[in-house]
Amino acid sequence: MMSFIVEGNGEQQVGILLNELLGTSEFGSWVDGELVTGNGDNIDLTNPATGQVFLTYRDAGKDIVANAADAAIKAQKAWWSMTASARGQLMWKCSMKIREAAESLARLECISAGKPIRDCRVEVAKVADMFEYYAGWCDKIMGEVIPVPTTHLNYTRHEPYGVVTQITPWNPPIFTGGWQIAPAICAGNAVLLKPSELTPLSTTALVNILEQAGIPRGLVNVINGLGHTTGSAAIAHPATKKVVFVGSPQTGALIASASAQRVIPCVLELGGKSANIIYPDADLDRAVVGAQAAVFSAAGQSCVSGARLLVHRDVYQEVVERVASAAGKLPVGLPWDEGTMVGPINNQKQFNHVHSLVSDGTAEGAVVAAGGKAGDIVGGENGYFYQPTVLANVKNNMRVAQEEIFGPVVSVISFEEEEEAVAIANDSRFGLAGAVWTADVGRAHRMAAQVNAGTFWVNSYKSINVMSPFGGFGESGYGRSSGYEGLLEYTQTKSVWVETAKDAAIQFGYSIQ
Ligand code: NAD
Repeated sequence: MMSFIVEGNGEQQVGILLNELLGTSEFGSWVDGELVTGNGDNIDLTNPATGQVFLTYRDAGKDIVANAADAAIKAQKAWWSMTASARGQLMWKCSMKIREAAESLARLECISAGKPIRDCRVEVAKVADMFEYYAGWCDKIMGEVIPVPTTHLNYTRHEPYGVVTQITPWNPPIFTGGWQIAPAICAGNAVLLKPSELTPLSTTALVNILEQAGIPRGLVNVINGLGHTTGSAAIAHPATKKVVFVGSPQTGALIASASAQRVIPCVLELGGKSANIIYPDADLDRAVVGAQAAVFSAAGQSCVSGARLLVHRDVYQEVVERVASAAGKLPVGLPWDEGTMVGPINNQKQFNHVHSLVSDGTAEGAVVAAGGKAGDIVGGENGYFYQPTVLANVKNNMRVAQEEIFGPVVSVISFEEEEEAVAIANDSRFGLAGAVWTADVGRAHRMAAQVNAGTFWVNSYKSINVMSPFGGFGESGYGRSSGYEGLLEYTQTKSVWVETAKDAAIQFGYSIQ
């Protein structure tokens, strides 16, 4: 892959990429197939690698949300009136168009979200996979015929909600956008999508690409702005019939309550504090690599990050030393450098949060085995870089082991018995993911059954695919995304009763006049 050069804050490159992908270097919301400027406050976009502002746009606000809702209602009717196979063919074209524009989308994501270019390329390819996968489902959403004990023909239909609102976070912007748009439109819905105000560019560019592939204008609208203004307005709008939220548990609680006020359902895909468990009989070479990938990829800004590493006492010291040694050698650097594996934290607030949790951990007795510092590790930049950090001697009741850190920091906790490992893994308000590394098949399945998590890996970590359901236990949320279960979240079931008896009217006991 060709490396690319980014000068200064990437202002110029972002302008070129927006021109290519959106047809203008201006930025705002994408409503009914056009870029529109918001009515609200200015929002600055900061390059995470330099800490400098590279673009300013205006919060969409209530009026633009209302326009987007009108466009969505109209487009949904047209979309739902097409045949299911025609919708599937268009979704397939979307995946092809995304692949054609993949490198530009990846670069835009890299500069604006601060994610290493190698990761951005993988995520954009996954977005294309999502459209391909759900393209195939369009003409396979089938109801059932139920053998009811009457003379009726009873069958079910899976119908769309109409317009759904989706709200996504900054950590994988285009990934979470594609992840939710594809099943929503596959099921026949229109979408109001509000990406994080910090990373709206790639999702907006994605939607223009979908329209170029033939998706009707207005079917997917990107309303860019703040959560408490634009996001709230979208949930409150009467057109919204369901909300799908991907983000933090704190905001998730607000979303659930705002949805409840309108008696509309919501799906919550929230945070985690996943336990990655290593037994002495594991292939330690693989387990150590897995432990690094679990927590240092995406600089730890991943909901499924293996932030708690539970290691059996017999191999505890060895694993700490090996993970710490590897952490010290990881290429931390500018996101657009091809060799970079760990980029910056996305924003100042998150950076401060990481630093504060590490400081609390060490104050409570954790020992820094690697990293533990912020700094100018890429040569004096003002970016939000944090060193890959290994904290040893962590106890599970410490704040650093209980709160989501969302940074390149792993807390290593020791255990002795299997029951103890399960108890520590489950001593968390979250339940998003978990893993075990062991050669004992029986134990692997016991752990998989006992750890409270929506996703569990055996001798692996972070394997995720659009075909397999994903979601949380506990405060990691409810509802499911991906796979057939994720598709059904975007449908509501209708039961249809058709009387087939010749003398049916008589059954009611009323006489025919
Ligand atoms: P966040 O909760 O701060 O923001 C998420 C989105 O909610 C943003 O678009 C924001 O503008 C919007 N928002 C904020 N307040 C709102 C309000 N009052 N009404 C409507 N919308 C509002 O989360 P974040 O910091 O952007 O993302 C990080 C979090 O996301 C982490 O907790 C991470 O674990 C989680 N996450 C979860 C998954 C998953 O699939 N489970 C995936 C990625 C990220």
